[in-house]
Amino acid sequence: ISEAEQAVLDEIEAKDVDFLRLQFTDILGTVKNVAVPARQAEKAFAEGIYFDGSSIEGFVRIQESDMRLVPDPETFAVLPWRNNEDSAAGRMICDVYDTSSGEPFEGDPRRVLKNALDRAEEMGYTVNAAPEPEFFLFEEDEDGRATTKTNDAGGYFDVAPKDLASDVRRDIIYGLEEMGFEIEASHHEVAEGQHEINFEYDDALTTADNVATFRTVVRAIASQHDYHATFMPKPIPKINGSGMHTHISLFEDGENAFHDDDDEFNLSEEAHAFTAGILEHAPAITAVANPTVNSYKRLVPGYEAPVYVAWSDRNRSALIRKPAARVPAASRIEARFPDPSCNPYLALAALIHAGLEGIENDLDCPDPVRENIYEFDEAKRDEYGIDTLPSNLGEAVDALEDDEVIYDALGEHVAPKFVEAKSQEFEEYLIDVSDWELDRYLEKY
Ligand code: GLU
Ligand code: MG
Ligand code: MG
Repeated sequence: ISEAEQAVLDEIEAKDVDFLRLQFTDILGTVKNVAVPARQAEKAFAEGIYFDGSSIEGFVRIQESDMRLVPDPETFAVLPWRNNEDSAAGRMICDVYDTSSGEPFEGDPRRVLKNALDRAEEMGYTVNAAPEPEFFLFEEDEDGRATTKTNDAGGYFDVAPKDLASDVRRDIIYGLEEMGFEIEASHHEVAEGQHEINFEYDDALTTADNVATFRTVVRAIASQHDYHATFMPKPIPKINGSGMHTHISLFEDGENAFHDDDDEFNLSEEAHAFTAGILEHAPAITAVANPTVNSYKRLVPGYEAPVYVAWSDRNRSALIRKPAARVPAASRIEARFPDPSCNPYLALAALIHAGLEGIENDLDCPDPVRENIYEFDEAKRDEYGIDTLPSNLGEAVDALEDDEVIYDALGEHVAPKFVEAKSQEFEEYLIDVSDWELDRYLEKY
């Protein structure tokens, strides 16, 4: 038994943890868990916990359904909303193993990200990432169901009393801190009822784990206050949607490989090539980073979300921005297109593979665009060579199927399953008849 595992066993004892939730995510990024009595922790470390993978979205076919969960002791945390004097629930994030081969299961999104990080490591890099998840807090109706009624009418950086949610947000932050998050900032976002909580950057795997945990914690604590927290990208038309800007940098031998003092933007050649790689593969990445029908209602002009494939050191309409960095170690790029409905493991894997591909192939990075791209007409976009992102999930999935780099990034197991699930989702949407259509046509024709 390792030191980290022993530390978990000690904590279970000290905090009267009686149940352990073993957590993992399916291909669509939904957090799943299996609860076991805490006394099984030692066995879980030694042998793993067996479960039936056939009931998990996109995991395995029925006839080969036995999977094994192996908890990562570094991810142990007590759930703040299940922590009483004499009983508590803990959780650990798990790697999924195939029982027949004994190997890591390639359909596990965490594995897909680890594969991307292995590629980075072979090139001499470690990857750091930090997300900025935005979300809405909505009131619940009498039956406890989510509405789209916002809990306040506050705006960007407003403070109480207009920002009624600040006590909900404060509780969420306490909860996250209890689970080991370093919170950097939290504020009311631009839209009514919209919030953002930023936590400290970490290695990319920990960051993806943190996003999965973050969404669970935010929803659980909001619901204790009778609010529904949603990470749906565009719940209300004509106001800002929710993004999950993702900051990325590569480190080499403990130094930030994205920083260069002599460059106009303080970005190294690697950072420029990495950016070029993401720009080149952006249409396919959107299928992964913006994986719902609703995602594409956020990616429209005028709401601080990107629509065009360009980078900038200034404006927020670009796909990738270079944020101002106070110290060399903080030089990084910010991908502004991901939204918080994505599977964070897959989205980071896609971004990282695209960027590394850029470095490997020495891709030239175009010049930054400093004007507001929303205001460009087609002729001007052509002149600057600026492409447009896919305008719906169907186009994005087509782009994914045509892009070998991103398709391969997801791996043999996940890629076809993902394409199948998302094509089906888009087809269902296409044949649906929406309220918009009924309002517009029912009485008119
Ligand atoms: N809510 C905006 C989006 O959809 C981002 C606003 C911001 O710059 O933080 O991406
Ligand atoms: Mg924001
Ligand atoms: Mg940002």
